[in-house]
Formats: sequence, structure tokens, C-alpha cells
Amino acid sequence: MGEFDLIRRYFQRPARVATVGIGDDCALLLPRPGQQLAVSSDMLVEGRHFFAGTDPFRLGHKALAVNLSDLAACGACPLAFTLALALPAADPSWVEPFARGLLALADTQACELVGGDTTQGPLNICITVFGEVPLQQDGRGSALLRSGAQVGDDVYASGTLGDARLALEALLGRTALSPDLLARCRQRLEMPTPRTGLGIALRGLASAAIDVSDGLLGDLGHVLAASGVGAHIDTSVAATLLACHGTPEAAALPSGTILACTLAGGDDYELAFTAPPSARAGVEAAALGCGTRVTRIGRIEREPGLRLVDARGTPQPHHYASFDHFA
Ligand code: ADP
Ligand code: MG
Repeated sequence: MGEFDLIRRYFQRPARVATVGIGDDCALLLPRPGQQLAVSSDMLVEGRHFFAGTDPFRLGHKALAVNLSDLAACGACPLAFTLALALPAADPSWVEPFARGLLALADTQACELVGGDTTQGPLNICITVFGEVPLQQDGRGSALLRSGAQVGDDVYASGTLGDARLALEALLGRTALSPDLLARCRQRLEMPTPRTGLGIALRGLASAAIDVSDGLLGDLGHVLAASGVGAHIDTSVAATLLACHGTPEAAALPSGTILACTLAGGDDYELAFTAPPSARAGVEAAALGCGTRVTRIGRIEREPGLRLVDARGTPQPHHYASFDHFA
């Protein structure tokens, strides 16, 4: 199968949002009046972001999900994406399920594949997503940014945190999990759910947001730096954020493992965000409306830096490092 056969067979579908989609030199998109275009790229490299031999259907899903997660963090509505793909071989038994996983998520999120590039090479998947965020009446954007956190704001995390890292720990042989729990954590690692609905619902409520890809504390650190503030995080709440919290198996995990996963585990693709206490009811309603739970985990403070405290406010040691490709 040649390059163009492969593109036609697996990736080309009738264009909907694009005036011109796959097949010409550029895709042509027509942003609607009164909308800002939100653009983000994320690359997945074999051996770096995923194990060699990862199920291609799941990889297709994840490659798009991590990109949609960036749109979610900005409160943008998905519109379209491009796919730059380096493949060792044009192997239908790999490309077919990869395209199915990718396009299944694309369809549920109404995000259209409008172009890309395909080359032979070590497996590498780079997606660029485009989304829309409405401009307000006064002409200002309504995107959620990292820079808006204010002293006194609540700090929230969506969904559950640490499951993906727990799966990784088990796959690397560092933690023993039952087959059932491993399967559930692995689902979170390999098939993350981008919180696009929540991001959109938080427009006008959240003061700042980021998606948790490298670990909660590290990613929250970016919000604090961009906003010029600090925060404290309650570790007794953070310890409840694993999806398996409350089960006997979770209770038997070392507390250090639980906190390392929830506070510093990567690959969750949940949202960490801030909102003023006056918006609590609105945030609850937004979360309920899109069926994604949110948990208040701390508070923004004037003093720069991130502090961990227990339920009584007593300082806790902070020795968690988030993921850095070059550290
Ligand atoms: P060009 O030579 O102009 O770079 P290509 O020959 O690389 O174009 O690609 C032909 C068409 O197929 C283009 O419209 C491009 O956007 C599209 N395309 C290439 N690879 C992919 C892919 N993996 N997914 C979707 N569209 C693709
Ligand atoms: Mg060209």
C-alpha cells in the first residue's frame, strides 16, 4: 500500500467543517464570526510516551485525547485537527485499528480530521487541534488561561487523579495490583477522557485552568507562576482522588504511593482549575451538567509557591517532582 492509498483508505472522509479538507495542499477552515481560534499540538513518541506494542486502537484514541485535553483546559470547543504520522511500515493491521480509535473519538467530539502528513520512520504521532472560543461583547476572549488565578480562589481538580500513574507503576513492576484494578487503571492510562464539556462549562466561572498531563503539583505550578500567586493543597483530600479510593485494595496501598500518584502522577488529562468561592454553586452545577465530578483541593494564597497541608492545616513535606523530558 502506498502513501496516498493509505491516506485515502484510512483517513479521508467527506469534509464537514472544512471548506477544503484532506486532498489539497492546505485545509481551509472558516472560523465562525465572533470566535477565536484555539490551536494546540501534542506529539506522542514510541518508547517515550507509550510502550512499543501498545494497542493501536487505544493509541489512536489517546493521540487525539491528549490534544483535545488542551482545548478543554482553554474552554475551547473542538473543531478540527491535523495528523502528522511517521510509521515504520504501511501495515493495515496497525493503521486500521489506529484510525478507528482516532476517528471514533473524533466523531464523539465532533472534531474533524482535515489534513496531515504521512512519512516512513520510527512511530511518531503529532496532532494539531483547532477549537473555537467565543469573544465576549466587549471584544475580550473567553478562553480559560493559566494566568487568571486570584488570591482567595478555590483550587479544584476534575475527575480522578493518579490512576494512570498507578497503572504505570504496576506495568513497570514497582507496585502489585490485582488484574481487575490494573485493567481499570490501564484504561485511564491508555484511553484518557478529555474534559472538553467541563472546560466549556467553566467559561466565565473558572479564573484559571490547565490540564494535568505531567502531574497535579507540577501543572498547578504553571498556573501559580503565570498568575503570580501561591497555593496550599490539602493532602488528605488529594489522597481520595484515585478512582479506586474506598476499596479494600486501595486501602492496602502504601500512603506514599497513593500521594505520589495523585499529586505527581502524569497522564491523567483531568483539569486543574481555580474559581472564586462565590462561584462554588456555579462550578458544582457545571460539573453536574457534564457528569464530571470536581473536588476542591486547596486555596490560592498571596505567598508564592506550593505548600502541602493536612486536614488540620499542618504543613506536610513536599518532595514530589513532576515529569520533565530533559530533567
Ligand atoms: P503535501 O505534499 O502538500 O505536503 P501530502 O502529499 O503530504 O501533501 O498529503 C496529501 C494530502 O493528504 C494533504 O491534503 C494532506 O493534508 C493529507 N494528509 C497526509 N497525511 C495525512 C494524514 N495522516 N491524515 C490526514 N490527512 C493527511
Ligand atoms: Mg503541498
